[in-house]
Amino acid sequence: MSDIETLPETAPKRVFIKTYGCQMNVYDSDRMADALAPHGYLPTHEIAEADLVLLNTCHIREKASEKVFSELGRLKELQGEKRAAGGDMMIGVAGCVAQAEGEEIARRAPVVDLVFGPQAYHRLPDMLEKAQGQRHMHPALKKAVIDTDFPEEDKFEHLPAARKEVTIKRGLTAFLTVQEGCDKFCSFCVVPYTRGAEVSRPVAQVLAEARGLVEAGVKEITLLGQNVNAYHGLDAAGRSVGLGELAFLLAEIEGLERLRYTTSHPRDMDDALLAAHRDLPLLMPYLHLPVQSGSDRILKAMNRRHTAAEYLSLIERIKAARPDMALSGDFIVGFPGETDADFEDTLTIIRETGYASAYSFKYSTRPGTPGANLTDQIAEEVKTERLYRLQELVNKQTADFHASCVGRTLPVLIERVGRMPGQVGGRSPYLQAVHLDGSTDLIGAIHEVEIVGTSTNSLVGRLKQAAAA
Ligand code: SAM
Ligand code: SF4
Repeated sequence: MSDIETLPETAPKRVFIKTYGCQMNVYDSDRMADALAPHGYLPTHEIAEADLVLLNTCHIREKASEKVFSELGRLKELQGEKRAAGGDMMIGVAGCVAQAEGEEIARRAPVVDLVFGPQAYHRLPDMLEKAQGQRHMHPALKKAVIDTDFPEEDKFEHLPAARKEVTIKRGLTAFLTVQEGCDKFCSFCVVPYTRGAEVSRPVAQVLAEARGLVEAGVKEITLLGQNVNAYHGLDAAGRSVGLGELAFLLAEIEGLERLRYTTSHPRDMDDALLAAHRDLPLLMPYLHLPVQSGSDRILKAMNRRHTAAEYLSLIERIKAARPDMALSGDFIVGFPGETDADFEDTLTIIRETGYASAYSFKYSTRPGTPGANLTDQIAEEVKTERLYRLQELVNKQTADFHASCVGRTLPVLIERVGRMPGQVGGRSPYLQAVHLDGSTDLIGAIHEVEIVGTSTNSLVGRLKQAAAA
């Protein structure tokens, strides 16, 4: 969450935002904090001192709503304790569970004051005011304020104003959402329903936000979107600009040293984006490009709209553009109808691609998606066994990739103090965590670091020279 350095004079209140799920929710939580700051709410990491608690939820996998309801149970107790001590606390549910189950949340958990979806967080201060107006009503009359509309207006237009009134301290790295929603309709996925149709932010708006972040000290920006490489924002002339061209425009911002983006769909990796990887040193050689399965039959049932061979030939083209590209992926095991042979095809594509990292999940039925109507569900123990085997393979590839870096000198953006005294830590171009002995003066710049060893999830380095570009 953002830290606020300069506070509005009337700033007695505290907001605690608990973020579930992906980076897009992390970005959204920061924007909610931005929207609330001018209204006197400062972020806190201590839930006990919060006047407002917001749960920014994720609906991507099962049990998401149950987790939210059990959290709400705990918050109800906390609210009771605060009231007994003469205080109070408001509670809001945001994000994709709120979008999917708005009324149901208000019905099952009357403790909730606000329910709002991802398209409504710029209206948070208004909603809060309405909800505050109800605080003193009889519980039987009080109603949660619910906003799960997909509005016509551009929420991003309404948000950054907050930063003019407070100085938000950014870290060295920041997320920047450029695209939201998805039109792909993979048969397992709720995103097109909870986040809506694909929408790209205009180029000028993205560039202005990026410049603002760099002015605030950010050196590395990760562009976000549910399907980020489908980005097609309009420029001032009304021309559609793709992610590759956007990367070239962002590269012109002085002081921006690193650029990343996530998450991409294989079908949207176009030539302009490959050219950006070939020509822009600031575009980091790490690409999260989920394939989900290596079986053409399952890819078709998932509605991924490409084959395993097409994915592999895309990987070849990507590596031709940027030979040191490290790849990451997402995999689902146990999609309905997945046979042992289909699963073996998934292990094969993993072996052929060679991943630096990967996320893997057991298929879970998401109500409302086409996958939910499929009957040939896979037994839980089969999913568990397949997930274990897949993760064993990926973990070995990750360890091999880390080991291949030993002896190399990598530019590391040093971001923080390390876990051990006298250590600092940062990230390699391939998004690996790197720890090294060094003074805190190193924090804030990219330094050349010789990689001398590995530990489970990170690299161990030694400073090569004082500072490098
Ligand atoms: N847009 C990205 C793409 O095309 O791959 C993925 C976005 S999704 C938020 C993140 C990951 O969650 C997916 O790549 C998929 O592996 C996983 N996921 C989504 N729905 C799932 C489901 N019903 N069961 C298991 N995993 C799921
Ligand atoms: Fe979901 Fe990604 Fe498929 Fe869109 S492309 S439906 S976000 S998995």
